[in-house]
Amino acid sequence: MIRLAMAAHTPVAAGLWIDGRSVSARSGQSAPVLNPATGEILARVAQAGPEDVDAAVAAARRSWERGDWRRATVAERARVLLRLAERIREEAEELAALESRNVGKPIAEARGEVEMGAACFQYYAGLIPAFGGRTVPLSAPGTGLTFREPVGVCGLIVPWNFPFAITTWKVSPALALGNSVVVKPASATPLSALRLAELAAEAGLPPGVLNVVPGPGGAAGSALARHPDVRKISFTGSTEVGSEVMRTAAGDVKRVSLELGGKSASLIFADADLEKAGASVSGSFGNAGQDCCARSRVLVERPVYEEVVERFVARVQALRVGDPQNAATEIGSLISPSHRDKVDGWVRRGVAEGATLCTGGRPLAGDPFDRGSFYAPAVFRDVTPGMAIAQEEIFGPVVSLLPFDTEEEAIRLANGTIYGLSGSLWTRDVGRALRVVRAIETGVISVNTSWSVHLEMPFGGVKRSGVGRELGPSALDHYSEWKSVFIADS
Ligand code: NAP
Repeated sequence: MIRLAMAAHTPVAAGLWIDGRSVSARSGQSAPVLNPATGEILARVAQAGPEDVDAAVAAARRSWERGDWRRATVAERARVLLRLAERIREEAEELAALESRNVGKPIAEARGEVEMGAACFQYYAGLIPAFGGRTVPLSAPGTGLTFREPVGVCGLIVPWNFPFAITTWKVSPALALGNSVVVKPASATPLSALRLAELAAEAGLPPGVLNVVPGPGGAAGSALARHPDVRKISFTGSTEVGSEVMRTAAGDVKRVSLELGGKSASLIFADADLEKAGASVSGSFGNAGQDCCARSRVLVERPVYEEVVERFVARVQALRVGDPQNAATEIGSLISPSHRDKVDGWVRRGVAEGATLCTGGRPLAGDPFDRGSFYAPAVFRDVTPGMAIAQEEIFGPVVSLLPFDTEEEAIRLANGTIYGLSGSLWTRDVGRALRVVRAIETGVISVNTSWSVHLEMPFGGVKRSGVGRELGPSALDHYSEWKSVFIADS
């Protein structure tokens, strides 16, 4: 349905996905979903309210009680997940185009994210045969056994910046273990999650195991976080909303994992290969900086500060901003005019606080920019650590370059925000690399690269960047419970 409409460039009416089929919202309400790069209406999507969330949770609960997924053998579950990975790859080009058009992101980035989504299902299909409990030696006369059991109905709340990838990060470990799920995509970007649900049904997932309820966060998301039959909430989004979700979910003591905001730093030491460190630009401006891992602060050792600023600005000025459907484009549109204005507001504040804007920092005009929310990538220098642009998550193409004099100062600056999600450091000194990675308060850090997300390793943050980890084997812990069994000898 969504595929045909996308191919024809005709807006489609899309429903909620509940119990294995597309349905209208109980209220009959729907909302337009736009291509932020062109303003084109891609679809009108049904808007779930609390009563639709009730229906989705009830469908998930029925599937859980029926047990055809939860009690399926690991081989059967792995077969469906592998078939789903295959279906995603078969439809990869269409899914990437859909994601690129719905988020305004470059098609090259969207292709990588779709492949990561397929690989995620494949990865967890491969892990589950080895995931289980064990026998436990006891001091009591008898046998101790542990089981790893699925949690039940899980509510998965997803943001708009990587809608397909983040949906798969949550759905794949949850389904692999036999849980039933209700996904609440971001209002701006529900299409790839709805398409995933169609593909999952084609791959053989029983009805009700995967439900998708697009709708306003304050209504649909909040109803999911509050629902008494939801046992776990996995939320990715802003720190502010994440903290509210945590409070809501505390009402009936749900399990909660949160992947939240960031203000990550890239630390460039004077001994680094500065040519290579130039790649830190991609770590700052990927997805137009609308990336929780964006290295929005670049900390540079003073002897090379001027040289790095010069190289960095030159690289940023060479970034190709434009039509997301063009394979050469590196920066597409921001998600909406209001988000672009918010980003611009941060830039104006940086200027007012006395930072020097070296390049960019304004909405782009002319063709094709006038139809979307394009923004010239901005680089600030002469930023001091207390300035708002050095502390707050801007979530756009805006970077601050700050100098430091010693390793201790670099660590202090890197740790000097409320966040702790990601980061990079650039040095040729292995001893320093090990000292600094240990000293930085963060969930993820990379050395001599900006690449920080690997599906085989835990991903998530410390401090106000979140609680819990996605990806890697440890994600399975978040979607399972331990059960301890004691069998007496006599
Ligand atoms: P957001 O405003 O916090 O929204 C995230 C999701 O929560 C959306 O689906 C939203 O629905 C929903 N929501 C809103 N209010 C809610 C409520 N009261 N109860 C339950 N759900 C609610 O975040 P965003 O603007 O979409 O995404 C940007 C943020 O996500 C940034 O802060 C970024 O750093 C963070 N992020 C973190 C990670 C990570 O892994 N740590 C990854 C990606 C993004 P609506 O769309 O309908 O408002």
